[in-house]
Order: sequence, then structure tokens, then C-alpha cells
Amino acid sequence: VRLTPAVLVITDISGYTSFIKHRAVSLVHAEAIVTDLLEAVIDRAAHPLTVNKLEGDAALLYAETGADPAPAIRDAVAQVAAFFDAFAARLGLVRDQRRHCTCEACTSVTGLALKAFVHHGEIAIKQVRQFEELAGEEVILIHRLLKNHVPSREYVLMTEPVKRAIGDAVPECSPLREEIEGLDPVTIWWAPSDAPSLRRLARSARTAPTAPAPSPTAPPETLREFTHLPRYPVNRIAEVRDRLGILAGTLFRRRAPKRS
Ligand SMILES: [Zn+2]
Repeated sequence: VRLTPAVLVITDISGYTSFIKHRAVSLVHAEAIVTDLLEAVIDRAAHPLTVNKLEGDAALLYAETGADPAPAIRDAVAQVAAFFDAFAARLGLVRDQRRHCTCEACTSVTGLALKAFVHHGEIAIKQVRQFEELAGEEVILIHRLLKNHVPSREYVLMTEPVKRAIGDAVPECSPLREEIEGLDPVTIWWAPSDAPSLRRLARSARTAPTAPAPSPTAPPETLREFTHLPRYPVNRIAEVRDRLGILAGTLFRRRAPKRS
């Protein structure tokens, strides 16, 4: 276990649970839509901001910040601002692709919204095999902040250390006092995602290396789900192994009829 100062980011897609009712097709389509949107958001994240894990309709990202955290925090806020553009662009595509489906999930795509949470503090990083687990009170705090009193559908929520680091870069943000279950109350700062200063920051954000376009030989969906976790080279090895396995399986099945 290693202690390190880090900026923590959670992106959360809301509107998801409310639009699932009882029909199985809605559930399957809803999962596909949310996965698609989450991928669009986390594909936009550039080093050092790294995806730690996916948590249902949310993703947890972090970047270690070292002794002078302010530049890394400002970079994270700019990247977060750009997440909303990636989300909106993909949402438009998804709506277009699914315009012929009449299920509850596909017809309520426009009800989906993105929220982002940014915090800075000391965390513990625990290595478990190839996985890095983030732990500590600051990690608990950012998760508890998902329940808050921000009167907006799409917003960026920042904690005090983040607000200090960005100074007046987002003049539209307003303070709010939140009671946190099991922790001390905190002051948070929030701004609607369409605030002009956030839009400016989004344009200044560094771009992630372009995600490879799906090729005709794109692997099945199950193999693609780890490719946005660049910190885990073991996934690449597993992916190659799986691809070889699939290739071998294909050859085997092709030859099988000759044997019988
Ligand atoms: Zn549908």
C-alpha cells in the first residue's frame, strides 16, 4: 500500500435507473447505451488522468499529483469540461442509431445526463495483482458526494482543494454546504456544464490519442471492454491470447466437419 496525493474524478451518467422498468429488451438496450456513452467519456481522458474502474453507470479516474498539485488539478478540470462535449456528441449518435427502436431505453435517451465530480486529497493505492485499488477517506468522500443538493441536471462539482487550485478559472461556480454521512460536512463548488468558462477550458484541454477506429476485424465486444485501461499491460497479453484462442477455435471449427 502506497500513500499519495491524487486528483480523483467520477463521471456519472444519470437518468439510467429511472428509465429501466421491467421489460428485458429495455434493460439490454439501456446497458448498451450507457456503456457506449461511458466509453465516449473515458476515451477522452488523457494521461496522467487514468481510468481506475467502472462502477455501473459511473467511472472513477485519478491522477497522482505530487508535491505541486495545482497544475494537475487544473488539467483534470479542463479534461472533465471536455468530457461533456464527448458525451453530447455520442448522445447525438446514439439517438440517431436507435431512432427505429421503440423500447423504453431507446426512446428516453434524451433524458440521460452527465455529472462530474473532482476532488483532491491523499489516497492509498493498493496493488492487487494487475489491479490498482484506490482507498481512503478521500475516496469515500467523492463517492458520497454523488448524493448532493446541486440544483442542476448536468454539472461539475468540485471540492475546496480543487476550487483553491483553479482560483477564478470558473467564475460561474457557486458554493453549497453538504452534510456527508459518516464524515464532516464540506463546502462544495458547482457549475453547470454549459458555463462559458467550462466550455473555454474544454477547448484548451489536451486531446487523448485518437481511439483506434473499429476495423473490419474488430474483436468481439467482450474483448474491447479493457482496452481503455492503458495502465494494465496484462490486459493486452490477455487480449492477444484471447484473439489467438478465437483464431484457433475458428480454424478448428472449420476443420471439424472433415473429421466426422
Ligand atoms: Zn431499444
